[in-house]
Amino acid sequence: MTTSNTKVGHEFVEFIPDNLEPATVYISLKYKTMVHLCPCGCGNKVVTPLSPTGWNVRFDGRTISIYPSIGSWNLPCESHYWITHGQVEWSERWSTRRIKAGFERDQRIKREYYGEIPARKAGRSDAARDDDGEAKAGTTCKPWWDRLKRRP
Ligand SMILES: [Zn+2]
Repeated sequence: MTTSNTKVGHEFVEFIPDNLEPATVYISLKYKTMVHLCPCGCGNKVVTPLSPTGWNVRFDGRTISIYPSIGSWNLPCESHYWITHGQVEWSERWSTRRIKAGFERDQRIKREYYGEIPARKAGRSDAARDDDGEAKAGTTCKPWWDRLKRRP
């Protein structure tokens, strides 16, 4: 796996094409999904659904940014990266413990979002969040789940 930053383009499409170009994120607003080839070069398709509890994309008129980070733990390469302003920013590979913590955090956020469990107080710090803060040092955008916490 390369550690250098890689440029990625994007294409707004209705249908995700069968043959994907490398370094291109295909975005279907109609089907609320994004698909791209893993930037490590392994050639696997990475699907990131657009949803309040999944990924979201920001388009500044020139480049896209995707939140939160993309961790392909199910692929042999286990790539983990951010796409920020049309650049792949490689993140460190997570240990199994951190992957598990991240998964449990996702599950908790989803349950909080759908009101199954009361939302925890903002400003808490647990291992997974601290790790995230590290991973996206240098970006000014808050993770999407922070926005969820500020609901009245
Ligand atoms: Zn890969």
